[in-house]
Amino acid sequence: MTTPASADPQLDPQLVSRIDEVLSRIDAAAARAGRDGADITVLLATKLRTPEQIAPAVDLLRSRGRLLAVGENRAQEMAKHKDPLLAGNGVPRHFIGRLQTNKARDVVAFGELIHSVDRDDIAEALERRAEMAGLHRDVLVQVNTSGEESKGGYDPTPDSVIPVVQRLRGSQVLRPVGLMTIGANTSDDAAVRASLRSLRELREEVRDRLGLDDFEQLSMGMSGDLEIAVEEGATIVRVGSAIFGPRPA
Ligand SMILES: *Cc1c(COP(=O)(O)O)cnc(C)c1O
Repeated sequence: MTTPASADPQLDPQLVSRIDEVLSRIDAAAARAGRDGADITVLLATKLRTPEQIAPAVDLLRSRGRLLAVGENRAQEMAKHKDPLLAGNGVPRHFIGRLQTNKARDVVAFGELIHSVDRDDIAEALERRAEMAGLHRDVLVQVNTSGEESKGGYDPTPDSVIPVVQRLRGSQVLRPVGLMTIGANTSDDAAVRASLRSLRELREEVRDRLGLDDFEQLSMGMSGDLEIAVEEGATIVRVGSAIFGPRPA
C-alpha cells in the first residue's frame, strides 16, 4: 500500500501555516503566564473531518514536538479511527461531545480520556460499561461556567461538583483527573476570562478539599479563546476550525 499524498505534511502549506499559527498563539499566551507552551496538550477537535484530513495534522503536531490528542464529538465518529491512516499512529483518542447513556459502550471502547461527564446517569453508564469491558478510563467532569442554557455541565460550585468527583473516585474503573468547560460564547473577553478562571478555581478547591494529587487537568479553550484559556491555566486546548478551517456544515 502506498501512502496517500495527503498524509505528507509538505504538500499542504495551508495546514502547516494554520498549525504554526495556533502553536505560536499558545506559546505567546503561555509565555505571558510564565508557562511552557509545550506542556499544553493540543487536542484536535475533528468533528466530521476525514482520516485523510486528520492524519497530516497529527503528523505535523508530532513533528513540532507537541503533546496531542484527537477528540471526537460523536460516538459514531470514533469508529473512523479504525481507518488505516489513524489506527496505527498511537495518538490518544478522547471524547469531547454530549454523552448519551445508550452510547456509553462505544465511548468507553475508544475514549482514553472522556471530557464530558455532565450528569450522574452518564457517570453511572460509563462505569457500568467500563466494568463490562474490563477497561480503565480517565474522565473529566464538565462544568457549565457560562450559565448558557444550551451548554451541558454541572453548576460551577464545589457543592455541585464534589459529589460526582467522589462518586467517580469510588469507582474501580473510572478516574476523575480534572474539569472541562466550554467558555462563554461572547466577544466580551472579560466574560470569557471569568468563566475560564472559575474552572481553575473550582479545580483547586475540589483538589484541596478532597486531597487529590492527580486532579489537575483543565480542558478549556477553543479556536476563538485559546489565549485566554492558556493564560488561565488550561492543560488541554480543544482546537478545530483554527487548524482545519471553517467547520463543515
Ligand atoms: C467543536 C468543538 C471544539 C473546537 O471548536 P473550534 O471553535 O472549531 O476550535 C472544542 N470543544 C468542543 C466540545 C467542540 O465541540
